[in-house]
This record gives sequence, structure tokens and C-alpha cells, in this order.
Amino acid sequence: MKYIYLDYAATTPTHPLVLTAFKRAVIKHPGNPNSAHALGQKAADEIAKSLKRIRRLLGLPSQYELTPTSGATESNNLALKGIALQYSKMGKTIITTAFEHSSLTACANYLAKQGFNVKIAPCNQWGRVDVNELDKLIDDDTVLVSIGSINSEIGIRQPIDAIKNMLKRHPKVFFHVDATQSIGKENIDLNDIDLISMSAHKFYGLKGIGLLITSKRTQLTPIIHGGHSTTIIRRGTPATELIMSMEKALRIAIANIDDNRQHVMSINLYAREKLNHIKNVIINSTPEDLPHVLNISILGKESRSTVKYMSDHGIYISNHTACDSNIDTSATVLALTGKKKLADSSVRLSFSHLTTTNDIDYFIDVLKGYIS
Ligand code: PMP
Repeated sequence: MKYIYLDYAATTPTHPLVLTAFKRAVIKHPGNPNSAHALGQKAADEIAKSLKRIRRLLGLPSQYELTPTSGATESNNLALKGIALQYSKMGKTIITTAFEHSSLTACANYLAKQGFNVKIAPCNQWGRVDVNELDKLIDDDTVLVSIGSINSEIGIRQPIDAIKNMLKRHPKVFFHVDATQSIGKENIDLNDIDLISMSAHKFYGLKGIGLLITSKRTQLTPIIHGGHSTTIIRRGTPATELIMSMEKALRIAIANIDDNRQHVMSINLYAREKLNHIKNVIINSTPEDLPHVLNISILGKESRSTVKYMSDHGIYISNHTACDSNIDTSATVLALTGKKKLADSSVRLSFSHLTTTNDIDYFIDVLKGYIS
């Protein structure tokens, strides 16, 4: 059945060359990378080389360590819990924002129950962190600032470079960036960040593989313990084929980043123009947000009903994020707008280089039928 996919922020279709790389690694490197014999060591060697190439693709120097995880949910958990457990004697305050992914927020809430102090950084009317206010919020008890580079539901872009500069005045504080929605979509300078989360299935890689990248000074208490492994902070058998296929996905995404971004920008503008003429539709994303995401509210229509109606018409969009799709009110839209009627009726469209103006036209036609 033909369908229109407008949910690329939830996940992306796997690039055929990524599948080829996966298959090749399965066949060529079948050994367990933790095994002492030559077949295992060959796999371990290939992983090390692949991670080195990923590090270079991301523009990071050799001091950074890359730990393969099952995805950004695990990376976020490892970052927050790993830092909290490791440095609790130095301080117990973690600062984050109201616009984080549920894997981050849930982790911060868990740590708050364990006695950590979680503070929310003040943001301006567009949801962007107020760097001066964040500066004032940091005190002697602060161990970690954790801020997502791009919010997945609205596309809010945070001032990561300005935060990095400000944090130079607080050398004791670790800086974690959930870069899951940035990597592969737009250039981001990851240098001088202590912990970086990413996930391959957001850039046409496979689900079930991601990374937590850590700077040299960052020590983490593991959250997954186990026996001997090439990865010290995340025991278990490293997934050779997933890691190598992630490298392929990243290479392709980065090679096409500018062209893809330009295409997505034109789709975003096209959709905005059409939506501007539809009564009762409010656009929540601003033109400064990531163009891949367009969050709208359809007044009087509950998010969940909109997603169902669109799905019944072969159009796949999202209420909130996939990870929050069972929740009716969008916490993110509520935090941004303060208006429950916008939060209850918001849906997310997300675009890619594969999205066409015909896709948008069809969506607009169905939307008009839904509203009338
Ligand atoms: N952080 C952000 C910003 C995300 O968009 C997502 C995916 N929805 C995650 C973390 C979780 O990633 P994963 O699906 O790899 O666990």
C-alpha cells in the first residue's frame, strides 16, 4: 500500500547501503569481539577501526571515547546515571530543560527520587535556554548540565556553542548533549562537550545501535555490568555488524548533509505556506527551529484522533514523540506555549530529503477534509 511518511523524527527508513554493510560485516566478521582467538580479535579490530572513523566523521579528536549502546535512550541513561553515581560526592545538582526527550526526563526524575537535585534551566519564549540565567543557576553543588541540541517534538535548537563558552567558567561541571536529532541532519560542533548521545536509526541506520561519546576527563560508573569486554563502561558482546553499519549510515548522511538540509528547508517552507491558509491551524515551530520538524496544533481536534484519522488515510505523523505517543497532552508544547488547548491538539510532522511537495499536498487535502 502506498503511504505518506511524515514521521522521520521518530525513525528513518534504513538506507540500502547500510543493509549491505550490515550483511557484509555479519559474513566477514562472525567472531565474538570479546573472544581471545583470532576470529574474535579480528572483529574487535574492525570495531575499533570503525569507531575511529566515526569519531573522525564527527570531527572529534582522539581523546574522545566512543561506547556503543543500544540507542540514545541507553546513552542518555548511561550519561546521567553514570555521572550522578560517579561524582555524587562532588555535588548532587543536575540542570536540564523542560524540552528534553522522555528518556532524559525519566532519568532525571529517577535521580531526583534518589536524592539528586534536578533544576530546570530558564528558557525564552521560543524554548531556547537563557544562557545568562543558566550561568546564574550553576552553583558549587552542580555536577552536570544536560541539554538536547534539538528538541524532537518542535525542533527547538539550543545555543550549544554559547552554553559551552559559558561553561568554561565552571570547569568542574560536566556537559552532556543529547545530539540525537542533530547528527546527520545539520553540522554541530561536538568539541568541548563531555558526553554526547546519538542513535543510528535517526540517520537511516538500523535500530538498536547508538553511541555515548565521552571526553577524556569523563569517568562514568557503569549501569550495565558484566564480564570481560572490549567496552569497559558497557559490558556485553559488542554488535560488530550494527556498529559497522552505523558508520556507513553516518558517512552517507554527512556526505549529503547540505543538499538534504536545503531540500528539507524548501519542504518546510512549502508546508508552512499551505498551513498558513488553513483556519484553526497554529504552527508551533518557529522558522529558527530545525526545518525537519514542524509542530502544529489543530484547534478543537485531539492529537490522538488526528494521528488516527491521518493513519486511516495512509499518512503517518506523530502525536508528540513516538516515545510519548500514549500521552494526550504534550508536555513540550505546554512548556513552550503555556496553553493546554494547543498542547492537547498538537501533532508533529517531520520531513526528510525523501519528502516531496506531493506528499505535503496530499496531507493538506486530507487535513482540509478532517477539519471541515
Ligand atoms: N533523544 C532524542 C532527542 C530522541 O529524539 C530520541 C528518539 N525518539 C531518543 C533520545 C531515543 O533514541 P532511541 O530510539 O535510539 O532510544
